[in-house]
Amino acid sequence: MVEKLTLPEWRLFLLSECLKAYGDAYENTTVFRATGKDSILCISDDDLQYLNTLVREDHCEGIRTALRKEWKFSGKVVDGGKGNYTICEYCHKREIRYQYLCVNVINGTWLKLGSVCVGRIVHGEAKMNDREFSKKYVSGLEAMRVQKMKEAETAIVEKPMRQLRLEQHGRIGHATKFLRENGHGDDTFYKSLESQWKAGKLLSAKQEKALMSLYTNVYNKRVREGVVTPEPIPTTATPEEDIENNIP
Ligand SMILES: [Zn+2]
Repeated sequence: MVEKLTLPEWRLFLLSECLKAYGDAYENTTVFRATGKDSILCISDDDLQYLNTLVREDHCEGIRTALRKEWKFSGKVVDGGKGNYTICEYCHKREIRYQYLCVNVINGTWLKLGSVCVGRIVHGEAKMNDREFSKKYVSGLEAMRVQKMKEAETAIVEKPMRQLRLEQHGRIGHATKFLRENGHGDDTFYKSLESQWKAGKLLSAKQEKALMSLYTNVYNKRVREGVVTPEPIPTTATPEEDIENNIP
């Protein structure tokens, strides 16, 4: 038995280009469709009966096939945030935190869907009624989402750290080089900072201050001794690759 289109299928259909191929459905919804995506998404069971008079039953499978060709999951997921739910734009029932962004590849319309409904537009409702299939599809999709969010999180943490190390290197590079060259490379304090730096960490503000004060003392002493001539501290940072493993 061929099933008439469901309400969610109608939401998609009204937002799709394949609608144009079905004269009655296209022409009789022109005025309504002009009200925009938001009102189209709000169609209810009251509209369903009328809408289903606009398509022939033996056309429904063809429409479903056309819809699956037009709508794809983009691979993008938006996290609404903890406790911040929005309604799935396909079923208009499920409250979702993670919005799986789906797109009509012909006219560029975007929809925010829950994970189960992504399966419904990608594989069709009938296929997603198969519990085993649906379970497998949804868990695969959610695993992908978790992986993506983990990657995004890592990127956010790593980038500023790298930047901070570069900046710190710019501030202390000259001083540490000077200390090393003037016989302080084996000091306990210097060594402890060096191992911290090699572990990929930043020096704390206190450590940085102590290091700079040590540098100032040694520098002034050397100037007094006439070993070095006073010169302004260069501010150029060392190339990035040089700071990876060695304290400057
Ligand atoms: Zn849904």
